[in-house]
Amino acid sequence: MKIKYYGTAAAEGFPGMFCSCPTCEKARKAGGKNIRTRSGTVIDDELMIDFSADTYLHVLNYGLDLRKIKACLVTHGHDDHLYPYDFHYRGYGYAYFPDEEAKKPLQIYSTEESSSELLPIVNQIRKRDENSVEWNKIVPFTSYEILGYRVTPLKADHAKGLNPVIYIIEKDNKALLYAHDTGYFLDETWEYIEKSDIKFNFVSLDCTSILNESAYSNHMGIKACTDVKDRLLKTNADENTVFCLHHFSHNGKLIYDDLVPVAKEEGFEVSYDSAEFEF
Ligand SMILES: [Zn+2]
Ligand SMILES: [Zn+2]
Ligand SMILES: [Zn+2]
Repeated sequence: MKIKYYGTAAAEGFPGMFCSCPTCEKARKAGGKNIRTRSGTVIDDELMIDFSADTYLHVLNYGLDLRKIKACLVTHGHDDHLYPYDFHYRGYGYAYFPDEEAKKPLQIYSTEESSSELLPIVNQIRKRDENSVEWNKIVPFTSYEILGYRVTPLKADHAKGLNPVIYIIEKDNKALLYAHDTGYFLDETWEYIEKSDIKFNFVSLDCTSILNESAYSNHMGIKACTDVKDRLLKTNADENTVFCLHHFSHNGKLIYDDLVPVAKEEGFEVSYDSAEFEF
């Protein structure tokens, strides 16, 4: 399995689009991997996780090929993870397809609570062209077969009204845990994970708050991520599991260059825009 991170910042981007704090100024000066756009991740070039307003930028700058994307898993309806307006451009008059196979609808998956902005747009697009996009409701703690992957959403500790989820994605004896956005996992999520016999090869953890040691709910910092890692290592991970920090805010105070040595000390990889891992 391959995971490619296209966008790795929290909602306002990193540097924040209107922000003059010292961390943002430092990121601007340093450039390169210190510049982060809004969330977007793709598994094996075909299964997308979240669809932010920066998706088109990922197409132009990082070689994201949306024509290969057949399904999109939405974690939750926050606009840095779901910007549904751009789905219009897979519709009639905006996108042309080489054959019937390519023309099949893009399958979008989200909880009902996270679909309130998405669904009217999907319905509007489908009025003109039923084949462009299709919405599928998912329910936490239920497994789905999607493009040959076993996909299991689990409840996240995040914006409650949106019923947000994190995802277990399994295929060919490989397992990924994609945990964004979430605080320290909820009891019911731990229970599901620990009762399963899944051994994760790759774990991507919400590290929005980086240096903030009290960040345990809604988002996490390095300290909470370390607690999650230590607990997973008791049951569902081992020394070969890669733990990667991802989804960062300037409020967490460290640009990429400064975060990497700190994360390494704690046994973490660090995502950056266009970072790729195979496992
Ligand atoms: Zn977010
Ligand atoms: Zn800032
Ligand atoms: Zn969020």
